[in-house]
Amino acid sequence: MVRVRFAPSPTGHLHVGALRTALFNWLFARHHRGTFVLRIEDTDVSRSSEEMSRSILEALSWVGLDWDEGPIYQSQRFEIYRRAARRLVERGLAYHCFCSPQEIEHRRQETQARGEHWKYDRRCLHLEEKEKQRLREKGIPAAIRFLVPDGLTEFDDLVHGHIAVDHKNLEDFVLLRGDGFPTYHLSVVVDDIDTGITHVIRGDDHISNTPKQILLYRALGAPVPQFAHLPLILGPDRKKLSKRHGDTSVLNFRDKGYLPLAFFNFMAQLSWSPGNEEKIYSIEEMVREFSLERISKGSPVFDLNKLEWLNSRLINELSLSELITYLRPWLEKEGLWSEELLTFRKEWFEKLVNLTRSRSRTLVDLSLMIAPFISDKFNYDPEAVRKHLLSGELDRVLPLLKEDFQKLENFSAREIEAALRERADREGIKAATLIHALRVLVLGRSVSPGIFEVLELMGRERTLARMEKLSAVRETIEN
Ligand code: GLU
Repeated sequence: MVRVRFAPSPTGHLHVGALRTALFNWLFARHHRGTFVLRIEDTDVSRSSEEMSRSILEALSWVGLDWDEGPIYQSQRFEIYRRAARRLVERGLAYHCFCSPQEIEHRRQETQARGEHWKYDRRCLHLEEKEKQRLREKGIPAAIRFLVPDGLTEFDDLVHGHIAVDHKNLEDFVLLRGDGFPTYHLSVVVDDIDTGITHVIRGDDHISNTPKQILLYRALGAPVPQFAHLPLILGPDRKKLSKRHGDTSVLNFRDKGYLPLAFFNFMAQLSWSPGNEEKIYSIEEMVREFSLERISKGSPVFDLNKLEWLNSRLINELSLSELITYLRPWLEKEGLWSEELLTFRKEWFEKLVNLTRSRSRTLVDLSLMIAPFISDKFNYDPEAVRKHLLSGELDRVLPLLKEDFQKLENFSAREIEAALRERADREGIKAATLIHALRVLVLGRSVSPGIFEVLELMGRERTLARMEKLSAVRETIEN
């Protein structure tokens, strides 16, 4: 039975690198009808916070990842780690070390000054019991170090293939620090054993930790899980993805108006492809298709254009009612929502969302585009005003066009278009000039879906009122 875990450290918000790890663990668990365990690695008490733990859970839930067991908080398990370390000492597989960090640093520098490679010199390995007693009485804290045996550790990584490490290159690493806190190696392995983890899927920055952890599994008498290390994500400049490339926290993508399923597709396709990169897969399809064998070794590039593309595509593929469910909180936030949009203005609202979604890459775009249809509080893009509203001809022709609009029997796209073209012909002005001007007057911007549909949905009253605002809108820019 497959059992995997995601084990973030709550020292910051969940970022995209960690999310991809979570996602692959989750897909793997769901594909095999296994168990997905969530563990919060908060042993570094000074750097971890509850707020960040909460934020991580929130980010996972937003993307649609649920967990079957946990969250297990490592900070509640310190005694278990201490017991495991003591057990290893009793069995001669680990030993107490009284060297202070300063002493070690000093010896390291000396060794390196001789041009030699440093690893812990085992000074405390053969301390007599009496000497240990003396040091303890002096109050010198003792760490516990793992005694690395001679030999070679080999494993078959499910992504990177066969890996072998000569123990000559490993030092006797610390399991429990002098202050009684476990190191990462100890807590990870103890927990993975306790929760029966069968596959460890994580970022390949952990490859070098794996041989040490395998030694620990063996020392603790537990079966070694399989490992799959995921390649590092790169920014578009092919350097390690970091803050320099923009905010990489997962919730930031929620706050920018991305849909969770688009984000899920985008993230899953970093290192793995369900087949067709042009298609948006449902979560069920991805679960069905997922396999570790198809993870590529090469580093994937985090390309925001692709995310935008997927998002705008999904905005256009969703059913109207689903899209409206996602859109609603955005409109609520802007004070643009009212229940009537789902009741007696439903038909109008659905037409509006349908018209505007084709131009929207995110839910933010969509709510900005919709705002002028619902409220008079929207901004005029100064560039658009400058470009399309300063012509003197407008002062003459717009009032005439307004009268034409007033007279229309039906304020429909077809009639609006006919009236506008006729008026343009009659006044010797380009229809495009009027179209651009109207767009800026009613929407505040120079791009929009077809203007005639826009005006029909805007309604006669609002359109006329905004046409009257020509001078006021001109005043919003500094000439
Ligand atoms: N807490 C570790 C991290 O955030 C993960 C440890 C692991 O997956 O083994 O990198």
